[in-house]
Amino acid sequence: MTNEQLDQFRIQLEAERASLSKTLAASKESAKGMELDQTRVGRLSRMDALQSQAISQGANRQIAAELEQIRTALERIASGDYGTCVSCGKEIPLIRLEIYPWADTCVQCAQRNSSASSSKS
Ligand SMILES: [Zn+2]
Repeated sequence: MTNEQLDQFRIQLEAERASLSKTLAASKESAKGMELDQTRVGRLSRMDALQSQAISQGANRQIAAELEQIRTALERIASGDYGTCVSCGKEIPLIRLEIYPWADTCVQCAQRNSSASSSKS
């Protein structure tokens, strides 16, 4: 991978990180507002309130997980490991990185991991 390509992924990852951080902050802010807004909570049943809280907590966890992936991808760019599969050590195809710039495994390893975890049920 050329330095230009690496730079492009870094810029893309930093932009994604900025927008996710903003989403996470806004979502936390609105969750806070919901707790304080007594009239709104009063109109919702307790179940509804708990449910919508669980949904926003789940979404926040998802965003936090994505931020973590972006953070480690940026670390791999800094250390020079970016674009190498952490599982088998092969190069991750550029086409995959263009779709998932935070990918840390090649397609084969990602598929093996997901089939291994889903075959349990
Ligand atoms: Zn691999």
